Amino acid sequence: MNDPVFLRELAARYGTPAYLYDLAAVRAAARALKADLPPGVRLMYSVKANPHPLVIAALCAEGLGAEVSSTGEVVAASGAGCPPEHMIHTGPGKSMREIVQSLKTGVRTFSVESPTDRARLAEAAAAADTDCAYVVRLNGPAGSGSGSLRMTGRPTAFGVDTTDSDALTELFRPLGPAHPVGVHTFFATNVATEDALLSEFDQALRTVAGVCERTGFTPQVLDLGGGFPAPFARPGELTRHPRLTDSLTRMLDEHAAVWRQEDLELMFESGRYLAATAGTLLTQVLDVKRTGDRTFTVLDAGVNALGGMSGLGRLVRPNVQPYRIGTGRATGHADRTSRDEECIGETGSTALVGPLCTPLDVLNGAAALRTPRAGDLFAVPNVGAYGLTAGLIGFLSHPAPVEIVLDEGEVLSARRLTLRPIEVAPRN
Ligand SMILES: *Cc1c(COP(=O)(O)O)cnc(C)c1O
Repeated sequence: MNDPVFLRELAARYGTPAYLYDLAAVRAAARALKADLPPGVRLMYSVKANPHPLVIAALCAEGLGAEVSSTGEVVAASGAGCPPEHMIHTGPGKSMREIVQSLKTGVRTFSVESPTDRARLAEAAAAADTDCAYVVRLNGPAGSGSGSLRMTGRPTAFGVDTTDSDALTELFRPLGPAHPVGVHTFFATNVATEDALLSEFDQALRTVAGVCERTGFTPQVLDLGGGFPAPFARPGELTRHPRLTDSLTRMLDEHAAVWRQEDLELMFESGRYLAATAGTLLTQVLDVKRTGDRTFTVLDAGVNALGGMSGLGRLVRPNVQPYRIGTGRATGHADRTSRDEECIGETGSTALVGPLCTPLDVLNGAAALRTPRAGDLFAVPNVGAYGLTAGLIGFLSHPAPVEIVLDEGEVLSARRLTLRPIEVAPRN
């Protein structure tokens, strides 16, 4: 998929900016992660990383379920063929309307984050005349601070404080048709090393064991979240986790022996690991400017297309590191060499900025690139997760990038998201 000739051809055919998603890479990531996890676990795809229906469908075909956090994501996953009984609806702010819609679609497993959240779920399930199951999301443990974006262990909007035994004891009892089946933790995202990941899981299991002991709850489902890492917007490959299965088994024996049963279901969630390396953003240089001692390379893709939320790594600049796949037609400078194709250069540093009218539209303050020129084409690798979906596509009203889906080198689909205003009738 990284053949510059092929990428140039796609850029010419569909225009830029364009996201390219390679389903073969999605499947390879799913197989790698499944192979590294203990056999028989349930692996859920976190749809927010990339809700493209063909990406979801490819992962469902690999046997994954879907972790969804909005009606839009439920619709995307259903539309992609993921059965509702393979979905878990999570998130710190589920409205009554969203819960009702999920139940209507057939979703029966929820992650509950507070007594209010659970009361809403029970009320909606009673109204829909159905049972449903939930896991209780914990805000803990503190962890080692190695994830790029911690969700737990400090005051956040996520989950129930693990020291709040009263609330936990209450949530571990059924309420009407809503039944507690387990515990949910999600400590951090993008945990870079296997050692750090193992220590996160160890802490998570310790915390879960403590909570279960204090409240007398026996979980049947243990959703350990994830945190599996992937490179973002720069070259790199997925790392493997060869010690994960053995270590998890050992940790479960150590911390969970008391309440662990043969049929304890382990669940994991991942968005980033499964989708990141499948995505490439094709973008063209619109202009190159020099002011003072700085060079600004103006791309046709800015934070509207990529990194509006910086791959959910907080609002730190994504520092994208693209590679050149084609040179501007208008120029024919003699100093251009074949090394230009590789681009990560010995020479100058340039700010990579987008087309938006704000000084915040910066994709990299100082990228090492060999003298870009207007008309050059670049590819930004590893943007399949938290790319377009975490961009600010509404900002400045540029058309959204095209999304092209490839499978075994064939284009399966090319589409463009649009923001279409609809009238909402005033209610008197
Ligand atoms: C976003 C999210 C994930 C996925 O995180 P990745 O870093 O993309 O793997 C998993 N679980 C929950 C509850 C999430 O909110």
